[in-house]
Amino acid sequence: MQLSKFPRATLAHLPTPLEYMPRLSEHLGGPDIYVKRDDCTGLASGGNKTRKLEFSMGEALALGADTIITVGAIQSNHVRQTAAAACKLGLACEVMLEHRVQQPSDTYSNSGNVFLDRIYGANLHEYPAGTDFDAVMAEIADEVSSKGGTPYYIPGGASNAVGALGYVQCGVELLSQCEQQNLAFDHIVTATGSAGTHAGLAVGLRGSGSDLPILGFGVNAPQDVQEERVFKLAVETADLVSAPGCVTRDDIVADCNYIGSGYGEPTESMNEAILMLARQEGLLFDPVYSGKALAGMIDYIRKDRFSKGQKIVFLHTGGSAGLFAYSDSLRT
Ligand SMILES: *Cc1c(COP(=O)(O)O)cnc(C)c1O
Repeated sequence: MQLSKFPRATLAHLPTPLEYMPRLSEHLGGPDIYVKRDDCTGLASGGNKTRKLEFSMGEALALGADTIITVGAIQSNHVRQTAAAACKLGLACEVMLEHRVQQPSDTYSNSGNVFLDRIYGANLHEYPAGTDFDAVMAEIADEVSSKGGTPYYIPGGASNAVGALGYVQCGVELLSQCEQQNLAFDHIVTATGSAGTHAGLAVGLRGSGSDLPILGFGVNAPQDVQEERVFKLAVETADLVSAPGCVTRDDIVADCNYIGSGYGEPTESMNEAILMLARQEGLLFDPVYSGKALAGMIDYIRKDRFSKGQKIVFLHTGGSAGLFAYSDSLRT
């Protein structure tokens, strides 16, 4: 695998810390639980998109782009980090925001991530769920070009092979931290949505010869759809880093039983998980992704699917800015 040949913008604080969570581990009475702190990537209050954007933005700059176009839900963490990265690099940012949540509260529509998008001065366009974003994107790109600009499109979650390189690098970084700290994990757990994190991680680990099992907790799609999405992107990413075939279909495992009624819709177990991590470890998780993945991990421990004597690492993908958008619906 060769990552150094890809253009890259410097955006993230790396390496992110790898920390033990003693109080949570004791509280749950199961495995030793560690956290990989990708909530601490630094930009715009942190999160996993910043690692991906180092490569997406690197390519945009290499191609001479001056305007980024991207897409996400109203409370998209990806959009927030993209808007901030565009500011840092002196690029304009056009955003297509999709209304994906049923009957959003006023807070959901205006606080949290979308509030920060406005602070970053991103040009926000809002659309109903199910909009054909390829068509809208083409229109926006035409408009940018007609004014003499050079657009660069970053897909939702920066989840194409270029963006996934950020998580190939994260996999490599984690292995080197394990070596330094003399740690061997039995499992890595992450939230999985637009798939770039899960796919990149799989390539980073398998491409480095690690067989560490990866479990993704899904946040929107059913298991078969999510696993196929991740696998397809992992194959493309493995090809891009000249490690074709390093990830097999069996490497990709997603559990999509903790979504509740839909993407971004609160669940009781997510609410419990967020309060538990805050009160045991002082950490902030998010209602849409990391909170639901934590709920899954906690349930696995309670059901003894992860057990005493094992070591688990949870990849904290960030998103705490989204908490503020859910202040009406989260029980404290
Ligand atoms: C986007 C996001 C994820 C999911 O990552 P994907 O690469 O889209 O699968 C997980 N957690 C948070 C906080 C996110 O913003």
